[in-house]
Amino acid sequence: HIELAKPVYHPGFLKKTKKLLEMVCHNCGKVKLDRSNPAYKAAVSIRDPKRRFEAIWKLCKTKMICDSDVQMNEEEFNADPKEAAKKSHGGCGNIQPEVRQTALALWGTWKAPKDEDGEAVQPDKRQITPDMALNVFRSMSTAEIQDVGLNADYARPEWMIITVLPVPPPPVRPSISMDGTGQGMRGEDDLTYKLGDIIRANGNVRQAQQEGSPQHILQDFETLLQYHVATYMDNDIAGQPPALQKSGRPVKSIRARLKGKEGRLRGNLMGKRVDFSARTVITGDPNLSLDEVGVPRSIARILTYPETVTPLNIDKLHQLVKNGPDEHPGAKYVIRSDGTRIDLRHHKRAGAISLEYGWKVERHIVDGDFIIFNRQPSLHKESMMGHRVRVMPYSTFRLNLSVTSPYNADFDGDEMNLHVPQTYETRAEVMNLCMVPLNIVSPQRNGPLMGIVQDTLAGVYKICRRDVFITKEHLMNILLWVPDWDGVIPQPAILKPRPRWTGKQIVSLIIPKIVNSYNASKDKEHLHAPLNDDGCLIQEGQLMYGLMAKKNVGASGNGIVHIVFNEQGPDAAMAFFNGCQRVINYWLLHNGFSIGIGDTIPNKETIEQIEKAIAKQKAEVTELVEKATSNELESLPGMNVRETFESQVSKALNEARNTAGTKTEDGLLDINNAVQMARSGSKGSTINISQMSALVGQQSVEGKRIPFGFKYRTLPHFTKDDYSPESRGFVENSYLRGLTPTEFFFHAMAGREGLIDTAVKTAETGYIQRRLVKALEDVMAKYDGTVRNSLGDIVQFVYGEDGLDGVIFENQKMDHINISNKAFNDLFKLEVMSERISTDVLEHANELYGDLETQQLLDAEFAALEEDRRILRDFVHSRTKEKDDDHFQLPLNIIRIIDSAKRLFKTDDGKRSDLHPRDVIPRVQQLLDRMIIVRGTDELSVEAQYNATIFIKAQFRSRLAYKRIALGMHLNKLAFEHILGELETRFTRALVNPGEMVGVLAAQSIGEPAT
Ligand SMILES: [Mg+2]
Ligand SMILES: [Zn+2]
Repeated sequence: HIELAKPVYHPGFLKKTKKLLEMVCHNCGKVKLDRSNPAYKAAVSIRDPKRRFEAIWKLCKTKMICDSDVQMNEEEFNADPKEAAKKSHGGCGNIQPEVRQTALALWGTWKAPKDEDGEAVQPDKRQITPDMALNVFRSMSTAEIQDVGLNADYARPEWMIITVLPVPPPPVRPSISMDGTGQGMRGEDDLTYKLGDIIRANGNVRQAQQEGSPQHILQDFETLLQYHVATYMDNDIAGQPPALQKSGRPVKSIRARLKGKEGRLRGNLMGKRVDFSARTVITGDPNLSLDEVGVPRSIARILTYPETVTPLNIDKLHQLVKNGPDEHPGAKYVIRSDGTRIDLRHHKRAGAISLEYGWKVERHIVDGDFIIFNRQPSLHKESMMGHRVRVMPYSTFRLNLSVTSPYNADFDGDEMNLHVPQTYETRAEVMNLCMVPLNIVSPQRNGPLMGIVQDTLAGVYKICRRDVFITKEHLMNILLWVPDWDGVIPQPAILKPRPRWTGKQIVSLIIPKIVNSYNASKDKEHLHAPLNDDGCLIQEGQLMYGLMAKKNVGASGNGIVHIVFNEQGPDAAMAFFNGCQRVINYWLLHNGFSIGIGDTIPNKETIEQIEKAIAKQKAEVTELVEKATSNELESLPGMNVRETFESQVSKALNEARNTAGTKTEDGLLDINNAVQMARSGSKGSTINISQMSALVGQQSVEGKRIPFGFKYRTLPHFTKDDYSPESRGFVENSYLRGLTPTEFFFHAMAGREGLIDTAVKTAETGYIQRRLVKALEDVMAKYDGTVRNSLGDIVQFVYGEDGLDGVIFENQKMDHINISNKAFNDLFKLEVMSERISTDVLEHANELYGDLETQQLLDAEFAALEEDRRILRDFVHSRTKEKDDDHFQLPLNIIRIIDSAKRLFKTDDGKRSDLHPRDVIPRVQQLLDRMIIVRGTDELSVEAQYNATIFIKAQFRSRLAYKRIALGMHLNKLAFEHILGELETRFTRALVNPGEMVGVLAAQSIGEPAT
């Protein structure tokens, strides 16, 4: 350490030192305020020491005299109030300075009261030296230190002033040898130089003190010492020139080492560089599987995995060791059982190394290795997913196009990171928890977050067109791209004169059999064969009509991806992606797709209609301007005249854009390439198309038409007070026709605004995300079903109030909510006492007739259904919006489960059912009773259990009602058993996994979409 000849201020505590000096008396070291002052009492009673300090400081800083601590009785001294004031001063009664801070010094101004003659005395301005401050602080009592919010044991105020400077050991400030030999030229660390400066300055001060140098010289030396000590710790003090190194570079202070993103805390402790990682540019490759990543061979030669030698892999590993570190499937190190390493770079005869069981070989990564792939900003868990390695030539990471959406990646220069897990355990975790297929459906959206994109999406739309016919030769080639093709060539749609297959047949090859999907056509007359091929019907994986687009095949809820994932699991969903991409891309490669200027040119009639629409609306605006100038415009409710004018102009111009947009859309053929891209959902929208062909439309800044930036006009090209569309940023040209200079300028203004607020938004939402995650990072679903933080405090008694994982939810219709009483009765009510059912429909029909017991069962079931309906209706009506919406987010798609059971057991409509109410109603009830989320028989548990399952049970009861399944759907016993079994196993799987970090999940699910 260095013992300083004079105390100096600590730059980090200077603010606090100043505040404290404003609180206490410079003579007696007591808090300036009177102890009996109620405001003081209130301040002292604040629990939080930080707030207590602030409160007392606020009260004291204006006080310019040291108050007494005893309040005298007024009556005793009422004769002479002046005298009273004097005597009551139990403190020292001294005048207190006003404290001002310059960069590294504190100044006090003592304003003396008027003297006896009533003349103002010149205020006394002096520096408050660290010495003086130290004396004041030392005279503070322990009790008062506590009172002002400091801690007498750990933070005594006098410790804020440096008398002895600690010196860090060399490891903190290592010297660097310039020539690398360790002798000769040595470069010293900045801190070492700085410490030298401090020692020198300190010596000067001491010498000056001993020699009794004049005050001003001593003062200069002291100031220099203060400066060096301060800049040693912090070299960017406001109002202070930074200390410079001989080279002219500012000295790197201790504070600079710690603070900021690259500082010790955030750069080296909170986040660190890691080994076994790689980063490079990404590009796409449609022939890679969804869960693969193409790794450049050059990177594969660097990254390694430590594989343990076993009898099963010893030969393979020996070959790798022999290949050495430079040949690709090779190895870099061999680790013996005692942990010693053989570096294969320096080993001349690697082939001679004989491996032993239990050793480890750090081999290059090879095809099939599991790694973690990541793209920043890692906003949700799908930003880091497990992939399988595929070693490839060239220098970029390659990935399947459908996996770009969760990473939010494109190939315009994006880079991504790759991490190689280094143990078998981590590998297993990556394999079973993180792989891409496991993340296809996200719990955040209750739907898939990956779908078919880009060219494949446009291709799948195009191949479905009715004018696509495929020759046998071409078909044979396409079939080879169908994954797991069974070798059966589908029956051609057209047999003569030449066999021809349709595109729909090709698409049907890759849709799994379990997929059934129906979107009604707009063509009500030809509901089952729409003339325009709109709507969409898929039956058992066969596309019957309609064009497949984003809605069916993209990342949308209840699309094919979602159905396949929920019915057949992650691998089947991935197989759909791969199959679809390979088949469609192969077809598209031979079909071709392109877009050009020609696709944006509207035909003559369309041009005329566009011009008419614009002219009409512009005329309307002219009329509005005239009305406004002649003061005839009536203001709308809640607006002034100006606002009314603006709103009506906007309305008129929007109308112009919309009509022009629709006219263009109508004018373009459905083979137009831009239209095909927009309809398939792969790129662009009708707005983009109409901006290209019809008009660009109104440009706006801050949600308003272009404002007057000059005096009464937007640009000097216009006359003053011009409120016409063109002067305020209405672009009536299309991108095809080209913009006028003023239009171009307005367009640039609006475009620039967009750029600015994306930049601002990313910074803001990034910070929001960080706060959300930090607040919830330790919250986890536990084995007892509760959600707790790391202290074990309960955050939620049942996760999501229903204890279920978000992944398994689907949007489902509860069709018994909105139906009429008659329809309800038709659907559910069965009267076996009075009505006879035909034995053609029901095997047990005769047995049922007049059976009282059965009727009681059926009545009980019906009563439960009515009660469900009542509760559901109450719930739906309590919602503020969409009061007739009977869709609910429910776990387990029972409708589909029944559907597939019907198909599996071939219970075609019209067959008779062998179900008896005795077999159905109690069994359904038992199933419902076994669906337990909250265990326990106490009142609260029972209520929680009821609330957790109310919707799903209502849905099950309705869908499994006896009349519905037996008479409506003709299910047989086998199918019914199958459904019950399926429901039960799926329900147990639907519960959240204990250990799921639901807090982070929630935080990310809110934060990520905000960005
Ligand atoms: Mg990019
Ligand atoms: Zn005092």
